[in-house]
Amino acid sequence: MKRILEELSSLRGSRPRVLLCDDQPINIRLANALLKGDYEIFMATSGMQAMELCEKVVPDLILMDVKMPGLNGYETCERLKQNTATLGIPVIFLTGLQSEEDEVKGFDAGGVDFISKPINGTVLKARVLTHLTLKLQSDFYRNIAVTDSLTGLFNRRKFDSELAEKWELCKRSGQAMSLLMIDIDYFKKYNDHYGHQAGDRCLADVAHAIRSNFHRSYDCVARYGGEEFACILPMAGPEQAVMLAKAVCESVARLHLPHARSEASEFVTLSIGVASVQAPGHSSTPAALVALADKNLYQAKALGRAQVVGGIQVDTAAPAPLP
Ligand code: GH3
Ligand code: MG
Ligand code: MG
Repeated sequence: MKRILEELSSLRGSRPRVLLCDDQPINIRLANALLKGDYEIFMATSGMQAMELCEKVVPDLILMDVKMPGLNGYETCERLKQNTATLGIPVIFLTGLQSEEDEVKGFDAGGVDFISKPINGTVLKARVLTHLTLKLQSDFYRNIAVTDSLTGLFNRRKFDSELAEKWELCKRSGQAMSLLMIDIDYFKKYNDHYGHQAGDRCLADVAHAIRSNFHRSYDCVARYGGEEFACILPMAGPEQAVMLAKAVCESVARLHLPHARSEASEFVTLSIGVASVQAPGHSSTPAALVALADKNLYQAKALGRAQVVGGIQVDTAAPAPLP
């Protein structure tokens, strides 16, 4: 088990993080002494402090005391499970309580296991190892399920689910939303001339350059298919989206990737179709936004490639503008 966890940690590039939460510093010191050789340890002496730390460092596992002043361990765990940023962190309760009723309470609150006090070092280490291994394994597979292996961007499956999710988010908050459909120009000729492996390297370089323009955590940059990429920009109107699309074209131009067979430039270039919706409503759909971005991409190709074409999708269900 230990070897598997070490492999998973090295694949991820960081040690597993464990948060110890107990109002008694002596208990924290004891658990810390047992675990600090193998893991990165964080400490909190109250439920509130644990929740704040979780948002900041997102631990892989929490060892949580049950009896604490203020928020007790069960209540803290319940709150962590209500927050999408922290709901995936497994919580093990440390407790002197031994009744079945208490165990049921802990599982109801979202805990995964119990360790009874006084702490037995061997038991604590074994349970921590088991739950950390499960956590890192599930992170690993979840990551693979949403990632395109060639470019490291999100894959098409993740794009589809993000589009639906972000659409609902913007609909609820009445905010604009934009979409970029990006396509490499004359890429078939690139492959024909430089070979498929060079084509793959080009795709990875272009993907990296595209990604470098997006800094907001809720933007989604995905490989849509073949040599096409798509970016979902929640809370971004048409001006902002067109500006970003132009910046994307410029970052790829700056790579100066030679393309001897392109009819648009001596370097690799992009065509981008932009579509925006002022406020996703009942008659507009994510599919219509994709269709408009696609239409604008086609237009950018027809106009000579290496350019951005933008447009707004009108939601007919939206209230008529005031005179
Ligand atoms: P346009 O300017 O109109 O977009 O022309 P294009 O040649 O880029 O477009 P087309 O759709 O005709 O060809 C896309 C090419 O992308 C064909 C395909 O071999 C290549 N391609 C798709 N996926 C990959 C990949 O994963 N690796 C490599 N090397 N090439 C790929
Ligand atoms: Mg294409
Ligand atoms: Mg193309």
